[in-house]
Amino acid sequence: MKNRLFYQSRLARPELDRAEGIYLWAKDGKRYLDGSSGAMVSNIGHSNPAVLQAMREQMEKSTFGYRLHFQTEASERLANKTAALCPEELGRVFFVSGGSEAVESTLKLARQYALTRGEAQRYKVISRMPSYHGSTLGALAVTGYAPLAAPFSPMMREMPKIPAPRAYLDGLDPDDPATGKHYADMLEQTILDEGPQTVLAFIVEPVGGASTGALVPPAGYMQRIREICDDYGVLLIHDEVMSGGGRTGKFWGAEHWGTVPDLISISKGFGGGYVPLGAMIARDDIVEAVLDAGGFAHGHTYAGNPLACAAGLAVIDEIERQDLTGNAAAMGDKLKARLNALKNRFPFIGDVRGKGLLLAFELVSDRTTMQPLPKELGAFDRLVNIAYDKGLIIYSRRTRGGISGDHFLVCPPMIVTEPQIDEIMALLTEALDEFAAETGL
Ligand code: PLP
Repeated sequence: MKNRLFYQSRLARPELDRAEGIYLWAKDGKRYLDGSSGAMVSNIGHSNPAVLQAMREQMEKSTFGYRLHFQTEASERLANKTAALCPEELGRVFFVSGGSEAVESTLKLARQYALTRGEAQRYKVISRMPSYHGSTLGALAVTGYAPLAAPFSPMMREMPKIPAPRAYLDGLDPDDPATGKHYADMLEQTILDEGPQTVLAFIVEPVGGASTGALVPPAGYMQRIREICDDYGVLLIHDEVMSGGGRTGKFWGAEHWGTVPDLISISKGFGGGYVPLGAMIARDDIVEAVLDAGGFAHGHTYAGNPLACAAGLAVIDEIERQDLTGNAAAMGDKLKARLNALKNRFPFIGDVRGKGLLLAFELVSDRTTMQPLPKELGAFDRLVNIAYDKGLIIYSRRTRGGISGDHFLVCPPMIVTEPQIDEIMALLTEALDEFAAETGL
């Protein structure tokens, strides 16, 4: 039969039958340990009974009420709950169905806010290289990942990029505040080069996601970024699509540094893999100014649908009831220590990084210079496939802006237990042994 369905590539994977906790089963009965929570999505694990029950109850009442026709209890409750988890200044919640939509919303709200202030010349959004902010054209324009952006460059407005603070590649000490200042000051220089009156916003993943491989900012970086944005009237957007929702060991990744942005995007773990759900959270005065000036010229049909919101609410309830944020912090420390210990056995593991259960390791040909592995080795796909065959799912991306380098995210659901970490490590060690034997590394 002709295959009607297509995604990015011809990659063939087995058919999924069912999923529970941190495991998934294919139709042929084989079990897979979800060591990456899908794409860092299934944060509370699969088939959580309380979330399924909340969804069933909502489905019996209504699954859709268009936002121009009705308010719904589920969307109002989730908005209140989300705002309560945010810094006080950020009190307004705008629902969407995914991460790209959430980022796109922050860019557009920022722009409309500038217009209300008579700052029509502000439109540039500075971001980092590498970074990932989404696949729609607006979000892609601020994404620093060459292979994804290149085909579409004539269709997008080129946006300025500054280097992500990859101290480990530059031989700098991430714990030294001078390192944080060094990278943050690149933002100031770029604002000055571009003309401060033209710069609308700076967007940053507080703990990096797939593009940087769980990059943790160096000491003082997040604070200095905030100061620079304030100095030049530039809005600060925290893209917490992946780092939000507790995975880093705090509900928001930026809580580790106590910095408060003007706008936040969240998705992935917000719907927890139960429903497509995301949100933009904005400063009250920004929203008021835009609504006073005639309204926000942006929205999506499925936004705030009651089924998605009921599921999202139940996901947050489960995070709180089981203290999964605390578990992510505790289990993340253990898993990170175990990943670091792998360096003794595998000289080609160059760097281990991340916070909580947003963790990654990077493969290199020389740990002192952090030279990447030769591209021809195809480590990026190879290790993922070896692990997959052994029943362990991990997630890989090219390290150096999509061009070369290989890093792997190990991000199990936040419900993971210590014996399950032992299981992850046993499978991963086996996979790395096989990878080393195959490649002669
Ligand atoms: N922003 C970040 C930080 C992400 O990690 C992602 C997805 O990986 C996105 C935005 C885009 O989210 P989505 O794939 O749901 O559109």
